[in-house]
Amino acid sequence: MAVMTHAPARLEANYRTLSTDDQDRFDQLMERADHAGPHDYQPLMDALAVLTGLFTARDIARCSCWTDTGGCGCAAIFDTALPGVVVTATNDPDCNLSQLQCPTCGHDHPRPITD
Ligand SMILES: [Zn+2]
Ligand SMILES: [Zn+2]
Repeated sequence: MAVMTHAPARLEANYRTLSTDDQDRFDQLMERADHAGPHDYQPLMDALAVLTGLFTARDIARCSCWTDTGGCGCAAIFDTALPGVVVTATNDPDCNLSQLQCPTCGHDHPRPITD
């Protein structure tokens, strides 16, 4: 049986290391957050913060390298308030979420906004 230790608040998680159930839940919450109204947005982000263990984050994103064609496949999940996060595409008019690169990718191979 695993011993549960009190882990310090993390700043990054990884989509790949989530269970498939949690990956599904992550995708659903992100989809809902993307289309949520102002009152629904924060509770969804809070649920994502708990799900990913990023308890101090108010706003969460997965590295756009995961879905970008030509992306490096990075699956980092991170607090969007981290220094070094790069916006690769701004949100669509009816959506809340921009596409973001994690600080590591933003440093190593930043992508220009193609809008
Ligand atoms: Zn990344
Ligand atoms: Zn990358």
